Amino acid sequence: MLSAVFPENIYCMCCGDAIDPSVRSGLCSRCAEKMPWALGNPFHSYMEEFAFDDLLPCVRYGSYARKIMNGLKNGGQNYMAQSVGLMLAERLQLSWDMPDVLAAVPSHKSKLSKRGYNQAELLAGSAARHLKLPYQKGLLVKTRATGSMRMADGRTRRSMLEDSFAITPRFEDAVAGKHVCLVDDVVTTGSTADACARVLKAAGAAKVSVLCFGASSGVRKSRADGGEDEIF
Ligand SMILES: [Zn+2]
Repeated sequence: MLSAVFPENIYCMCCGDAIDPSVRSGLCSRCAEKMPWALGNPFHSYMEEFAFDDLLPCVRYGSYARKIMNGLKNGGQNYMAQSVGLMLAERLQLSWDMPDVLAAVPSHKSKLSKRGYNQAELLAGSAARHLKLPYQKGLLVKTRATGSMRMADGRTRRSMLEDSFAITPRFEDAVAGKHVCLVDDVVTTGSTADACARVLKAAGAAKVSVLCFGASSGVRKSRADGGEDEIF
């Protein structure tokens, strides 16, 4: 109820400073300027390794994107899904090939019961509403929990994810010949998106593009101050 009196969208999603509520991005001008906006596909030079055909990130995954994603995952802040969903919609509009349908990378039900929602679903629904495109909720299902993969490399993740996703039986005929846009919050190694894309392609999807808020190439470069930057 407090949010009706103090709407959360008057604060920057990234730094928490007060912003003009008419700013639809949900970011203050300082954070919007510092945000590492991404227009390219960070996996472009090794796309043959993946079952998806394109990767469309809004930003390079780093400290700014991490703050926003942590808020979205841990605060239950649905208003953030609206602002981030708008960024995803605008990113997809830059693409030459609009999808037929949007779908979310699913969470396993054990994770869903803990968090109460799947942030990828919130983003996919929000982006679809902004774009006036169909969103097929529940198209894919995660059939087994895979635990934390944070420390696993791409190859290990792939074997952990094998046979972890499936098409919900009632949608089995829904993707044949379609261009499906798979939405996730963050793409790091691409293993999850790849596993989902394999399932969609096996069901006859003509094209699978992946739309996400943050993406990293997995390639890192050491900075002079001892930190590391993701490089595309
Ligand atoms: Zn800010």
